[in-house]
Amino acid sequence: MSKRIVDENLLTLARDHATRYLAGVDERPVAPQMTRAELIAALNVPLTDAGEDAATIIESLAGAAERGTMATAGPRFFGFVIGGSIPVSLAADWLASAWDQNAGIYVASPIASVVEDIAREWLLELLDLPRESGVGFVTGCQMANFTALAGARHGVLRRAGWNVEEGGLYGAPPVNLILSAEAHVTIHTSLRYLGFGLRAIREVATDEQGRMRADALREVLKSCGDGPTIICAQAGNVNTGAVDPLRDIAALAREHNAWLHVDGAFGLWARASRDRRSVVDGIELADSWATDAHKWLNVPYDSGMAIVRDSASHRASMTVSAAYLEQTTGVERDQVDWVPEFSRRARGIPVYAALRALGRSGVEDLVDRCCAHARKFAEILGADDRVQILNDVVLNQVLVRFRGSDEATRETIARVQRDGTLWLAGTTWHGMAAMRISVSSWATTEEDVKRSAAAILRCVG
Ligand SMILES: *Cc1c(COP(=O)(O)O)cnc(C)c1O
Repeated sequence: MSKRIVDENLLTLARDHATRYLAGVDERPVAPQMTRAELIAALNVPLTDAGEDAATIIESLAGAAERGTMATAGPRFFGFVIGGSIPVSLAADWLASAWDQNAGIYVASPIASVVEDIAREWLLELLDLPRESGVGFVTGCQMANFTALAGARHGVLRRAGWNVEEGGLYGAPPVNLILSAEAHVTIHTSLRYLGFGLRAIREVATDEQGRMRADALREVLKSCGDGPTIICAQAGNVNTGAVDPLRDIAALAREHNAWLHVDGAFGLWARASRDRRSVVDGIELADSWATDAHKWLNVPYDSGMAIVRDSASHRASMTVSAAYLEQTTGVERDQVDWVPEFSRRARGIPVYAALRALGRSGVEDLVDRCCAHARKFAEILGADDRVQILNDVVLNQVLVRFRGSDEATRETIARVQRDGTLWLAGTTWHGMAAMRISVSSWATTEEDVKRSAAAILRCVG
């Protein structure tokens, strides 16, 4: 073993700190216990000329993490939509870091390329999506939306006789961009990055759960003419968890020869559950999908997937070629062909590990448990007459309002955040303040739900 390369003491130190951190994450307050000023005071040492001792740095970071992190790795974090990390995916992530592979092209790391090929196949099988689809392993759903919509841009313009990769958008046939009023903000940013501009967007009205209204979509499509058209639907509203009527939307998309993209950051995983599959009925009829692995699959940040049925359009929108790259022309996967990044970490490895460890029934169980926990939250909280559940709990999201008042709701959220038993945040739903509960972690048990619901009720005041 070459001591020059491996610093065993240092890696052991990091491992011990990580293990201790995770062992304690259940019982510490979920919210960070340090202010920004305290974090700066702890970490903002003068940058030295000579550099510092490595162990000192690890100790310093680990020390700050004890109180400076949000306990998202623990079982009672219900804010935003943030999963934890199942142990095997964390361990695989450590290996990927130790190997320090450049997962850009096959030649630079055959294992990273092969693992992503396999993970691609497993993913398409598990989610039962068209097996010929291209899959790009990206940093999260923002980049998954971007990547899939780049494929969409290429596909719809090619059908209109325009090569956008060569000609850009100046002079291109205008593209109709249709999204619902509840589309996630990352759809808007993706369209901006793709050069479309926000003014081009046509918005479709939504129903009381935040679902795109198919009848309203029909009207918008009528007003569009027959130019190239991209429709962005959603599986899993960030507030309610609601899923657009995808089968109806897909039929309309087909009628109008439009490209249907589905943002399924967390909702796409419902397809892995026999119990929840009907919630995303028709999702397989889309042309592209974006999802996250770091949310519901519970792999470490940062990890998401872009899936595009027309793999030729996907590839054409992302591919890179340069003489020095020694790209393969045959069967080997060069990841630069499927993602915006050039050099990148081997983020398919923790995804591979998670899928292989969980198997089909493990993923199904993960999804079903989170959904059952969300229903339990709604049941316990909803039984209290100070509480109103604002949404149909179809997946893992619950929207809660207290004493019918914005003030009481905001005050309850603030108290819960200070209390430390759990952490969650607020939102505005149909003009009303609401508490948003998202159950996305593999580590959450029914006991955690009961304890958290009791803490929330204690904080209503
Ligand atoms: C979280 C989320 C995104 C963005 O995903 P990131 O992983 O944060 O980039 C997009 N759409 C929906 C519906 C989401 O829930």
